[in-house]
Amino acid sequence: MNIEEIIQKLYDKIKLVDDKGHLASYIPELENVNSESFGVHISTLNNLNFGVGNCYDKFSIQSIVKVLSLIMAYSLLGEKLWNRVKVEPSGTAFNSLIQLEVENGIPRNPFINAGALVIADILLSHLNKPKEDFLGFVKKLSDSKEIGYSARIATSEKNVGYRNAALCNLIKSFENIENEPSEVLDFYYNLCSLEMSCEGLSKLFLFLANDGFTLVDNKQILTRSQTKRINAIMQTCGFYDESGEFAFKVGLPGKSGVGGGIVAVHPKHYAIAVWSPKLNKKGNSYKGIRFLEDFTTETEISIF
Ligand code: GLN
Repeated sequence: MNIEEIIQKLYDKIKLVDDKGHLASYIPELENVNSESFGVHISTLNNLNFGVGNCYDKFSIQSIVKVLSLIMAYSLLGEKLWNRVKVEPSGTAFNSLIQLEVENGIPRNPFINAGALVIADILLSHLNKPKEDFLGFVKKLSDSKEIGYSARIATSEKNVGYRNAALCNLIKSFENIENEPSEVLDFYYNLCSLEMSCEGLSKLFLFLANDGFTLVDNKQILTRSQTKRINAIMQTCGFYDESGEFAFKVGLPGKSGVGGGIVAVHPKHYAIAVWSPKLNKKGNSYKGIRFLEDFTTETEISIF
């Protein structure tokens, strides 16, 4: 079976599976979605672009953006970045506060909310027009014109963002946030509100399978070493306290978001994006993980 046939077969199978997940109701606007949506899209370095289901529908990428904001901050600051945030799996939920107090406001990694807030703060300090500049950076990574913020989702999250405000204020008290917490939070909510489709995501993340070079114009975004490091952080920290299980079952570097999206990268081969909005108890797409687990089992190509 070729890749297209495998994707189609698994899509048809997993579409029928009883979805035990739930929508992320803590951000009210995220419930405003068809919970049965299910899409998959793959982009490979041999120019295969193939998708099924709702693969062209845009959705809220939420924490998947944390990979992109990290990459922009890394390309601006280089290795100095790691003085502000570490690269250790947290083993805790994405919005947990507990480690921050004992670890003096230095977040465990850039993919939990605490770390992503520090990255947002770094970008705010370095960019003239943070929202526009970040969007411009992301648009340069692929030829996708579809990418944009959703004011509706950003406002919805801001209105109930008590926990993120607590995280940001706590980090500020340890002097690891330079800007005003309200400005950092506002920028962070906008980042998380970015909307894209599975097609857009798989095309965009393909440069991480390509040693850091974009596919559209062969521009080097990160060095080869930095690219490996981003993939390593996705492998170890991309799924919060389910990162070990994702490595065990799927075996690819990846990142999830509470909008139900997951993107995974097979270095030197492909990037694949899956979207199904209902989440498991760890905040990761229930069907998305099921699909990717079966996909890497059927294709039998592994990074390990
Ligand atoms: N914007 C969400 C939050 O801060 C992102 C969480 C996620 O996707 N895991 O809670």
